[in-house]
Amino acid sequence: MSGNRTFTMIKPDAVEKNYIGAILEKINAAGFKIVAMKYTRLSKADAGEFYAVHKERPFYSDLVDYMSDGPIVAAILEKDNAVADFRELIGATNPEEAAEGTIRKLYAESISANAVHGSDSDENAQIEGNFFFSQLERH
Ligand code: ATP
Ligand code: MG
Repeated sequence: MSGNRTFTMIKPDAVEKNYIGAILEKINAAGFKIVAMKYTRLSKADAGEFYAVHKERPFYSDLVDYMSDGPIVAAILEKDNAVADFRELIGATNPEEAAEGTIRKLYAESISANAVHGSDSDENAQIEGNFFFSQLERH
């Protein structure tokens, strides 16, 4: 059975362009409830750990630089079928391939600066949420 929580970040490019409000509005309009949220900034070490799964990829060091380049918004979202529905809402990794109306189509500038993160599995949603929010904060 699929879970009801996912984890997202509004990435530095979208925060820099003042898209936080517009993106949160899309998230709420799609039926997601925000159950935890934090405006913060990742150190290089944080970004490296968060995206450790991509360590061997050629874009890893650019990704770590980019994700620690400015503030982000981290949030845990709740909805039935949260992981899959949120991936659909954000669209393809490359905004040029993202469907019309998706967050990346609307607000991302490139495959590397692509506005938002969305967990890719229930297991990672939990790991990533725990990375930013303690159990106590989440109730
Ligand atoms: P995210 O995990 O941030 O939600 P994603 O799941 O759509 O994105 P991943 O394959 O997990 O895509 O890649 C993680 C991030 O690494 C991408 O969001 C993007 O910022 C960057 N990235 C992925 N592929 C490339 C690439 N070919 N060139 C540059 N950056 C890339
Ligand atoms: Mg991913």
